[in-house]
Amino acid sequence: MAPAVRIDLLTLFPAMAEGFLRESIVGKAVENGLIAINVHNLRDWTHDKHRTTDDRPFGGGAGMLLKPEPLFEAIESLKTEQSTVIYLCPDGEPLSSTIGRELALKPHLILISGHYEGIDQRVRDALVDREISIGDYVLTNGTLPAAVLVDCLARYVPGVLGEEMSLTQDSFNGNLLSFPQYTRPAEYRGLGVPPVLLNGNHAEIERWRKEQSLAKTQSRRPDLLK
Ligand code: SAM
Repeated sequence: MAPAVRIDLLTLFPAMAEGFLRESIVGKAVENGLIAINVHNLRDWTHDKHRTTDDRPFGGGAGMLLKPEPLFEAIESLKTEQSTVIYLCPDGEPLSSTIGRELALKPHLILISGHYEGIDQRVRDALVDREISIGDYVLTNGTLPAAVLVDCLARYVPGVLGEEMSLTQDSFNGNLLSFPQYTRPAEYRGLGVPPVLLNGNHAEIERWRKEQSLAKTQSRRPDLLK
């Protein structure tokens, strides 16, 4: 069976991504062939002795930028008609579960991880289909943001989450935050569990969970209820 999603990740730090891709649920999805992920070192598309990927910005200013040539060549060599090219950047659209769901339906994603001050604007203008941020803060490079994006979308690829894990109970499903959860023992160091969860009345438990979700959403994220 062909993987539901193929992902090519372009980065200067392949080792940062590789550990993440071997572990946990994403690791299993890769192992089971549900998702295929290739991590590429952007330096493989350089042609000089020093394998240079960056240069100073025109107009001056602090820092360095990723040069256009390796990125153009890398993307052009990986791209097909089915590809969606995504640049991870702080000034992109904020990542959300809606975007994760959408991207899980795409057959091929090319993820660009920037470094230094970012990448030459011509790459963004000519080759990038979508720009995505993982939050209102600036990280040193885009490898972790790309890993976050992969984890976020992987959960929506059919078969990736086991039956025991239901997406419907997660935060942001139905615009609500998740309700509190408890497991055994029912009493630990004098700390108990809400009695409603122990009485076996599923309708009551559902009602309690809904109330808890609503109360938490109202206090922490009232914007979700608008
Ligand atoms: N000069 C850029 C700016 O102010 O928008 C920040 C560049 S940042 C130091 C270097 C790289 O890290 C970016 O090219 C991007 O790939 C990645 N990055 C940093 N913060 C990110 C975020 N919040 N979301 C997604 N990618 C981010």
